[in-house]
Amino acid sequence: MPQPISVPTDSEVRLADFDPADTSGIDNKKAARKELKDNVEILADLGYRLYAENQRALLLVLQGMDSSGKDGTIRHVMRGFNPQSCRVTSFKQPSVEELDHDFLWRIGRAAPRKGNVGIFNRSHYEDVLVVRVHNLVPEDQWQSRFARINTFEKLLTAGGTKIVKVFLHISRDEQQRRLQARLDNPKKRWKFSRADLAERRFWDDYQRAYEDVLTRCNGEYAPWHIVPADHKWYRNLIVSRILREALEQLSPQYPPAEEGLESIVVE
Ligand code: AMP
Ligand code: MG
Repeated sequence: MPQPISVPTDSEVRLADFDPADTSGIDNKKAARKELKDNVEILADLGYRLYAENQRALLLVLQGMDSSGKDGTIRHVMRGFNPQSCRVTSFKQPSVEELDHDFLWRIGRAAPRKGNVGIFNRSHYEDVLVVRVHNLVPEDQWQSRFARINTFEKLLTAGGTKIVKVFLHISRDEQQRRLQARLDNPKKRWKFSRADLAERRFWDDYQRAYEDVLTRCNGEYAPWHIVPADHKWYRNLIVSRILREALEQLSPQYPPAEEGLESIVVE
């Protein structure tokens, strides 16, 4: 039976129940790549219509452990979007100025404008993940953030932004292979950070923190998708399907033309 990608709103998520290497019985990589290619084209068209309509926005929130493939997913799945109406924001350690504000300040500023696709490479969820695992703020503060994140996402949704949240689920073994590959491959070495090795030691703490995120911030208005990400081709295929479905549901329309345009002839 194929593994579910979404979980019901009120269910408690245990990541051990989700196989990061699942490919749901699809073994034809060639067909998967073809479908991805088709989806990229369809996404381009839907993104263009969203831009033309200029009423609503799409926000993709990408989360996952180090080396889970956030960058690769953006490169392979989002390549069709028009750079004019698509913006990727990669959230790093907050700056001094950002730390002087509430954690949602920098997030709200990066939210996509009408007609645009916004992609968050990491997001406000870091403020209940890395912040929690490393005790960067007292527990009562990070605990209060779950409810505030839900309120924030509800507000964005009410304002016309469709939020799609994707958790790229990889295994500990796969992370080991990918980090090692970064060391072994001169073209990937720039991506290696010693900090990733330190973070890897907190694997179980992160998994628990993610389980809380997936359980407590999974409202109907902005549900999580748990995407098996050990196989890159499958990850790309599933994310392209999720985005396609979200944009098809929005069904953006070209704005109605001004009356009388059909009789104008440009000389
Ligand atoms: P990378 O995604 O590899 O460029 O790394 C970005 C780093 O910034 C990761 O180690 C994140 O955990 C860290 N980061 C992102 N957001 C926050 C945050 N709100 N507080 C602390 N660290 C963060
Ligand atoms: Mg990194």
